[in-house]
Amino acid sequence: MEKVVIIGTGCAGLTAALYTARANLQPLVLTGLQPGGLLTTTSIVENYPGFPEGIDGYELMVRMQKQAERFGARVQFGTVEAVDVSKQPFVLTIDGERVEAETIIIASGAGHRHIGLASEAELEKKGVTYCATCDGALPMFRHKPLVVVGGGDSACEEATYLTRFASEVYLVHRRDTLRASKIMVERTLANPKIKPVWNTVVTEVLDPKHDKVTGVRLKNVQTNEESTLDCAGVFVAIGHVPNTQLFKGIIDMDENGYIIPKRGTETNVPGVFVAGDCSDHVYRQAITAAGLGCAAAIDTERYLAAKNQ
Ligand code: NAP
Repeated sequence: MEKVVIIGTGCAGLTAALYTARANLQPLVLTGLQPGGLLTTTSIVENYPGFPEGIDGYELMVRMQKQAERFGARVQFGTVEAVDVSKQPFVLTIDGERVEAETIIIASGAGHRHIGLASEAELEKKGVTYCATCDGALPMFRHKPLVVVGGGDSACEEATYLTRFASEVYLVHRRDTLRASKIMVERTLANPKIKPVWNTVVTEVLDPKHDKVTGVRLKNVQTNEESTLDCAGVFVAIGHVPNTQLFKGIIDMDENGYIIPKRGTETNVPGVFVAGDCSDHVYRQAITAAGLGCAAAIDTERYLAAKNQ
């Protein structure tokens, strides 16, 4: 039987792996479909402490995995298909195989919601991005017009952040009211560099033929009028989708699927802990996910110590 199974190998999962490994718990760490998590999909990470020149997101995750493995973490490519936490030991079905576990740390992360356009997928990392904090400062976006899509807190935050680098930021929103909190709306609309484009959706990102973003094709949803807008980057901020489907009805979560911790990183099921973006819709940074992974590992260690004393 496993002492700890960690679901996810993003910053939260691998930090939990490092700490539980160093506590001699030999964690089994499951990668899921995206080994290394969301950070592997970005380019240079410039805000992870300790790397003054920045570090490639993929490389950072490889290093985290190596560090955890050095102390005995066993990272396995695998996806959890089913989980039974109704009694001890917990039972996970991992790619058809039955695995028993005393504790589980859920660190399954969240994915960026995509608009769903073919051109959006083609130009991802070539000007289409889902994280202004990660990518906004890249030279390709500096002093250029940029587009942010969305009308929530994330979109407002991203647009405001991008004004540091862009010549102007077009905030393209499908309605004429922002969903974001009042203070964020006021701050966003007061910023002279942010130009809202109301009642409008992006219907195509231009231009896959040039292998980079040169603009967007827009449609006004009230008039059906079409137009194009030149820009060097498209920042999609239309929400996140936590990877928690598996735990629906088992682990307490809010209406958007974010797991609600009870105390610290404990969930409503004793022995099941949670860390990172699958329970955090506020901070969502690599460093906060890593911090929560550490906390979940410490909570797990203490739970096992109390259980097995
Ligand atoms: P959100 O609040 O769910 O907003 C998503 C936005 O994207 C909405 O404006 C929505 O339009 C739009 N949208 C959704 N699907 C779309 C589509 N297919 N095409 C075009 N537009 C689409 O998501 P979020 O901004 O990521 O925020 C998530 C949570 O984190 C919220 O609770 C938020 O308050 C919180 N948050 C807080 C802060 C902060 O306090 N500083 C910062 C970031 C996030 P509609 O408005 O028409 O639905």
